[in-house]
Amino acid sequence: LVSQENAVSRSVVRVGGVPLGGDTTTVIAGPCAVETPEQTLAAARMAQEAGASLLRGGAYKPRTSPYSFQGLGEAGLKILSDVRDETGLPIVTEVVDAADVELVASHADMLQIGARNMQNFALLHAAGEAGRPVLLKRGMTATIEEWLMAAEHIAQRGNLDIVLCERGIRTFENATRNTLDISAVPVAQKLSHLPVIVDPSHSGGQRDLVLPLSRAAIAAGADGVIVDVHPAPETALCDGPQALVDADLAELASAVRALSGLL
Ligand code: PEP
Repeated sequence: LVSQENAVSRSVVRVGGVPLGGDTTTVIAGPCAVETPEQTLAAARMAQEAGASLLRGGAYKPRTSPYSFQGLGEAGLKILSDVRDETGLPIVTEVVDAADVELVASHADMLQIGARNMQNFALLHAAGEAGRPVLLKRGMTATIEEWLMAAEHIAQRGNLDIVLCERGIRTFENATRNTLDISAVPVAQKLSHLPVIVDPSHSGGQRDLVLPLSRAAIAAGADGVIVDVHPAPETALCDGPQALVDADLAELASAVRALSGLL
C-alpha cells in the first residue's frame, strides 16, 4: 500500500487543509512539550514567524527517565486546541498509547507516532483507524524497510494519509544526539509514495545544528522539516538545548524559501 511500485503519483497529505508533500516544503514548528497556555501560544507565534503552517507540541511525552516531565496529558491537548483557535495553525501531537488515540484524535489534526513507538503495532493499528493523518517517525534503530512496514500497518487499517519522518538513528557517533540519516530521504522517497520530512531538532539535539541540518534535509529533497521552538529554552521542561529561539526564526524561514525554490 505504501510502496512506490503500485502508486500512480506521489502522495500529498492534507493536515487541516495544509498540504504536506507535492510541490510545497512544509515547516512544522512548536514546543517539544506543551507546558502552559502562555508558553504554547508564544511558541506558536514563533512558529508562524519561522514560516510554519503546522504547530507541533507534545502533551504526552515519551521520556527516557520516569523522573522527567511526562507531559500535561489531556490538559495539554486542550491548550493546543485553544492555540489552534487563536492562531489558525493545525496541530500535530504525539500519541503514545493505543487507549488514548480517540481522545488525542478529537483534538489533533495529525497524530504523531514517535521513534520509540514505531513498532508498537497496537498503536499503529489504532492510529490507522482514527480518521486523522499520521506522522510516523523512524525508530532510532529501525531500518528503512522496517519503517516502511510500520507505515504499511497503518495503511492496512484504511489510512493512507501517512507522512514519514527521519529523526536520526543510533550510531557509534556521540558528538550528536542521533545521526541524521540524510540518505533516508531519497531512499524512502524512491521506495514509497509517501511524503518524507526531517526532524533536525531531535536528530542533532543542539540548537546550532538545526539550521544546517534543515538546509541539508531540504537540499536532499525532503518535503518539510519539523523543528522545536521555545520562547525561553533555558526554562523548558523538555529538550531546551535544541529549541530555536527568536533570533533563529527568520534565518530558518529564508533558508527554507531559498532552498525549496531551487528544487
Ligand atoms: C518529539 O518529536 O517530541 C519526539 C519525542 O521525537 P522522537 O520520537 O523522534 O524522539
